[in-house]
Amino acid sequence: MNNIIQLVYFLTAFLFILGLRRMSSPGTARSGVLWAGGAMVLATLATLLTPGMGNFGLILLALAIGTVAAWIAAKRVRMTDMPQMVAIYNGMGGGAAAAIAAVELLKGDFSDGLKALAALGALIGSVSFTGSGIAFAKLQGLISSRPLQFPAQRLVNLLVIAAAVVLGVLLLPTHSGLSVLLFFLFALAFGVLMTLPIGGGDMPVVISLYNAFTGLAVGFEGLAIGNAALIVAGTVVGAAGTLLTLLMARAMNRSLWSVLVGGFGVEQTSGEVAGSLKPIDLEDAAVMLGYASKVVFVPGYGMAVAQAQHKLREVADVLASKGVEVKYAIHPVAGRMPGHMNVLLAEAGVPYEKLYDLEDINPEFPQADVAIVIGANDVVNPAAHRQGSPLYGMPILDVDKAKNAIVIKRGQGKGFAGVENELFYADNTRMLYGDAQNVLGQLVQSLKKL
Ligand code: NDP
Repeated sequence: MNNIIQLVYFLTAFLFILGLRRMSSPGTARSGVLWAGGAMVLATLATLLTPGMGNFGLILLALAIGTVAAWIAAKRVRMTDMPQMVAIYNGMGGGAAAAIAAVELLKGDFSDGLKALAALGALIGSVSFTGSGIAFAKLQGLISSRPLQFPAQRLVNLLVIAAAVVLGVLLLPTHSGLSVLLFFLFALAFGVLMTLPIGGGDMPVVISLYNAFTGLAVGFEGLAIGNAALIVAGTVVGAAGTLLTLLMARAMNRSLWSVLVGGFGVEQTSGEVAGSLKPIDLEDAAVMLGYASKVVFVPGYGMAVAQAQHKLREVADVLASKGVEVKYAIHPVAGRMPGHMNVLLAEAGVPYEKLYDLEDINPEFPQADVAIVIGANDVVNPAAHRQGSPLYGMPILDVDKAKNAIVIKRGQGKGFAGVENELFYADNTRMLYGDAQNVLGQLVQSLKKL
């Protein structure tokens, strides 16, 4: 039986990696998720059939509760709330790894080496558990998303993590219920303290980091209890989470260290911007677009909020039918999660070849007759070129270099970083106010009449 179970774990590992591989391209991502999900079901079944397994009633009850809660949550969550959802799931994974460690450390009947691995996994898993909980609360608006800072914060944080590490080391030679409890209290507290000073702006990067933490914690627990599926799943999640964290930080031009030290995401009171906002009405915008030879669409978070991707595609189709060359410019951190725009546009049936990454589309802006910004702000903000701006150094889409720009947004709301956008005040920019879905819907009608 044991051999069959190990074989199933091996198959599971293979499927996880295959699933991850398929997730790297939008065309195959859906099936990748199904492969990895199937692998998870297999691993769970194999674990349930492991000789010596008991407490089936409780296990099945927990499985039923978890499955129903996750099903309902996944059906109901809005795409723009996905980062919070990921945070809560990450946290659960870290918490589960820490819970396994707690049981094993309380039993304490294994070698020092394995105990050390269990304690390390417990520490990382606990930090991920409470840290992800705070990240969820900040993004969900349950607590303020502003960085929460207090005097001597770094010293306090250092002392708390040092206490957790010392207590963890002390668990090796001897253990008692009290020492295990204290160890967990400090580890859990560190997750809270580490996350509070980080602003909402950096939260998605932090969530991705906690995802990597959870993977590591699960991997360590797998080693501690000798479970191959946990080791493989943990390693895959840990490696993928680390890469994603680094890629996100790089796309926002933030070092991981500056993210963890905190302070970003504070709303700025805007600096004065020269010029004025110049509105344009629908008919004029339609004429400008309809008689252009090249139009670049620049979608952002506002398109996601308005769920305007289908209307955007309709506008693109009408323009294409009039012989206009149409391209979509995709910034790596447009929206609120990696690949946010790609997912939405794929859902609307926009062919993948029409999506252009920042490096590929930027040289084309000067030839674009119109760049039309749909609910994007930070990712087109030229303030990113100016030292001292919170956006400084973030690569942006060069909409300011297009011959004309039209910006669709509801009013004068700022972007995620809270920085005024001088592109909106430029001589060749026109503001088309309204909810992106409504505006694009009306544009389709106006364009058809041309
Ligand atoms: P921003 O958040 O900078 O701006 C969105 C704009 O959309 C707002 O100015 C808002 O203006 C407008 N808007 C909101 N709702 C609507 C609507 N219904 N219709 C039309 N417009 C609307 O978005 P960007 O995509 O430009 O930038 C993403 C930001 O998020 C970056 O700062 C990035 O660093 C950050 N981020 C992204 C992550 C990712 O992985 N993608 C992760 C973490 C952070 P108004 O209120 O006037 O309508």
